[in-house]
Amino acid sequence: MIDTRYDQMFPTLDAWEIERVRRFGTTHGFAPGEPLAKIGDVGGRLSVILSGEVDVTRSDSSGQRAPIVTHGPGAFLGELAQLAGRPALVDAIARGPVEALIIPPDRLRALLIAEAELGERIMRALILRRVGLIETGAGGPVIVGRADNGDVLRLQGFLRSNGHPHLRLDPEADAEAKVLIERFQVDPGQLPIVLCPSGQLLRNPSEAELARCIGLVGAIDPNRVYDVAIVGAGPAGLAAAVYAGSEGLRALVVDRRAFGGQAGASARIENYLGFPTGITGMALMARAYTQAQKFGVEMAIPDEVIGLEPPGAVRGGAFVLALANGERASARAVVIASGVRYRRPAVENLGAFEGTSVHYWASPLEAKLCAGQEVALVGAGNSAGQATVYLAGQVKKVWLLVRGPNLSAKMSRYLVERITGLANVEVLTQASITGLEGSGGTLEAVRWRDQSGEETRRQLRHLFVFVGADPNTGWLAGSGVGLDPKGFVLTGSETGTASRPLETSVRGVFAIGDVRSGSIKRVAAGVGEGAQVVATLHGFLAEIASEPGHGQSALPV
Ligand SMILES: Cc1cc2nc3c(=O)[nH]c(=O)nc-3n(C[C@H](O)[C@H](O)[C@H](O)COP(=O)(O)OP(=O)(O)OC[C@H]3O[C@@H](n4cnc5c(N)ncnc54)[C@H](O)[C@@H]3O)c2cc1C
Repeated sequence: MIDTRYDQMFPTLDAWEIERVRRFGTTHGFAPGEPLAKIGDVGGRLSVILSGEVDVTRSDSSGQRAPIVTHGPGAFLGELAQLAGRPALVDAIARGPVEALIIPPDRLRALLIAEAELGERIMRALILRRVGLIETGAGGPVIVGRADNGDVLRLQGFLRSNGHPHLRLDPEADAEAKVLIERFQVDPGQLPIVLCPSGQLLRNPSEAELARCIGLVGAIDPNRVYDVAIVGAGPAGLAAAVYAGSEGLRALVVDRRAFGGQAGASARIENYLGFPTGITGMALMARAYTQAQKFGVEMAIPDEVIGLEPPGAVRGGAFVLALANGERASARAVVIASGVRYRRPAVENLGAFEGTSVHYWASPLEAKLCAGQEVALVGAGNSAGQATVYLAGQVKKVWLLVRGPNLSAKMSRYLVERITGLANVEVLTQASITGLEGSGGTLEAVRWRDQSGEETRRQLRHLFVFVGADPNTGWLAGSGVGLDPKGFVLTGSETGTASRPLETSVRGVFAIGDVRSGSIKRVAAGVGEGAQVVATLHGFLAEIASEPGHGQSALPV
């Protein structure tokens, strides 16, 4: 990456450009050897070098410093972490005396918006630098564990979905892993362990523990009242965030896992407007996530919302979101964009193989595990179709198990045609799984029955499942938000009470995307509703601002 895109990754601002960015920062001097950034330090800033030189280094798998680049006058120091004040992923040390223009995150966001052309160059550099760090794993946590361990896959999947660099070391093959295991006296049964950049060691942590350790998520200010809190950072929630932020609303996005939602799991989205050659869901969603942060939207990811309390006098007429970690967030309006979660087929011992052999995603991580093997995939919708096409390029053979009489009932035509043309995909209709065999979390064989009526048993280590989804609305229990018989959120005229489109039966609470009753389950539909809801929000916020007990004056922001 550094070799091929050096100029875009490390542009040098000319004297005139430096003059234009001066109003966004303040000048500071640094003594030789003084750090401008330290791995793990929070609240980092973008530093434009005015004079002197700065060495930027990363730590390698053995904890040694490895050089990335040396910045001279006109260069700037920073990557995506600086956009949201997240912990630095690299060290930067002044070689000799250095003078630098220091731009804090809020002023950096103002610069990116005010200086469109220059802002684009800076933003591109920040994104490319993060991509480079992800490629090398620099600055992130080190996971020690086997590649096929279910917890290693879980932690790697979590970091990958959040666009965070990390390294994995094999406990048997990597010398550095052996050193870490000895130093921290770790029993092989306690693996995986995770070493955070701060030096803290975690033993098989939860995603939330890992996120806190690497500074991915910070505490929510309990005194802040947001204009809008958006629950869910899938395409619908991120679209609402981008429009809300760009139109000056103070917005908070909360997601329990990662940005991108289901779309983030899509191997290739080919029907989203403007991408004629298709785009991976992760790439599309990472852009939206960065874009929302550019407009000052705050992200609380991963944080899970477990309850919605109606506006009360205590919070100055604001709704309160209760989070699983005990924190609370207040907002004048709430947008429900919590999407859907995958359904699990009724197979007796399915749970015993989840995470290791049964997968609900087909990302490069899973593809690598199955390379050269035969796999089974259950499902007949577009997500099953995309996964089949993707996996067919990576594995020896895909056995596609479809419950109905053909593929075309639920799948888009382009996918049906593509699957039909794949020599290593065998479609079995009227098929269902009858049993899973294996031990220790590892699948050894899958049994199914198809239209022939006979039971087939094949030795397979991996099963992919894409059999539809249920709405994520459990957290709305007791909130008064009306749901349809399947649990999807009713909006607009369907509620019988709401006066605005996309508004639920609770005034000031809106629903968009897949979680909404009657929604079209597509990325573009969710994005459209995300834009539409912000226009509606403006009307609602203007209305309550004039009502006693509501609005701007209630709590200081
Ligand atoms: C594999 C796959 C491929 C697909 N391919 C395409 C395609 O090619 N084209 C297309 O148009 N559509 C595609 N889709 C469908 C598309 O991805 C969805 O329609 C879209 O993602 C819905 O967006 P959403 O924002 O409404 O919800 P989601 O994407 O479901 O996002 C909801 C978010 O809410 C979060 N959340 C849920 N509950 C809580 C809670 N209590 N607290 C905090 N956060 C919470 C979740 O973690 C999640 O991130 C695909 C779907 C899948 C699974």
